[in-house]
Amino acid sequence: MSNGLSSLQLTPVDLSQKIKLGSKSASIEDSVDKTALEAATNTLLTRLSELQEAFYADGRHALLLVLQGRDASGKDGVIKTVYGAFNPIGVHVAAFGPPTPLELRHDFLWRVHQVVPPRGMVGVFNRSHYEDVLAVRVRELAPESVWRARFEHINTFERMLADSGVIIRKCMLHVSSEEQHERLTARLDDPTKNWKFRLEDLKDRDRWDAYTDAYREMLERCSTPWAPWYVVPSDNKAVRNHLIARMLVETLESTNSVFPPMDDAVRTAAEGFA
Ligand code: ATP
Repeated sequence: MSNGLSSLQLTPVDLSQKIKLGSKSASIEDSVDKTALEAATNTLLTRLSELQEAFYADGRHALLLVLQGRDASGKDGVIKTVYGAFNPIGVHVAAFGPPTPLELRHDFLWRVHQVVPPRGMVGVFNRSHYEDVLAVRVRELAPESVWRARFEHINTFERMLADSGVIIRKCMLHVSSEEQHERLTARLDDPTKNWKFRLEDLKDRDRWDAYTDAYREMLERCSTPWAPWYVVPSDNKAVRNHLIARMLVETLESTNSVFPPMDDAVRTAAEGFA
C-alpha cells in the first residue's frame, strides 16, 4: 500500500532491545494519508462489532485491554472511539483512581480481580494494577521492597487469568512531553475541558523522567507471552486509535469464535413453532 497504512501495526515490546520512550517514538515516522486512515479505521471498528457478537455467543474467552499512560495520553479517547464500536451490553469498563481506605487494607490486586471481565465480555481498564508499580513508585507511596515484589505478583496474577480464559492485551499510550504540554494547556484554556485539569497532573509532569524509568521497568518486567505490552505512539489520536483497533481485530479473530449450534433438545421442542 502506498498510503502508509500497511506499516501501522503494533508488536509486543521487544525485550532484547532497550525500549524507546523518547519524544520521537511517540509518533510514527511514515506519513499517512488522513482520509485513507479514517476509512481504514472505520472498517476495523465495524469488524470489531461483528467479531464481538460471535465472541459473546461463543463465551469461551474474555478480552481484557489494559490502558496505561501519562495524563492526557488519550485513555478516555481510546475507550470512547475504539470500545465505542462494541455493543455496550457486552462491554465492561473499569477505571482505577487512588485506592479507598478499604482498598488499602486489602492486597493491591483485590480491587482489580473483582472487575476482570467474565467470559464472553470485552473489558477495558482505564489505569490498572500497574499504578501500583508506577504512581506508587514515583510518588513514594510504598517502600521499594513492596512495589518491586509486585512485578512478580502481577505476572502470576495475569497468568492465572490467562489460564482461566482471559485474553490480556496491554497498551501504554506513549505521548511526548510537547504533546502532553499542549493537551494540558488546552484543558486550562478551554472552559469545556477545565474540569479535567488536576494539580496532581502538574506534579506528575515534573516527575517526567522518574515516570519514564518506572514505565520502562514495568514494560521490561511484565511483558509476557500471556499478557504482552504494546507501546502505542499516541501523539496522533487517529493513528493511536487505528493501531489499537487493528490489534484488537487480530486478537478477536485469533480466537476463532463461533456461534454455538442449537441444542438438539431445544430444536426438537421447537419443532412446529415456525
Ligand atoms: P485520569 O487522570 O485517569 O483521566 P481522573 O483525573 O478522573 O482520571 P481519577 O480516576 O480519580 O482521576 O484518578 C486517577 C489518579 O489516581 C491518577 O493520578 C493515578 O495515578 C491515581 N491512582 C490510580 N491507582 C492508584 C494507586 N493504586 N495508588 C496511587 N494512586 C493511584
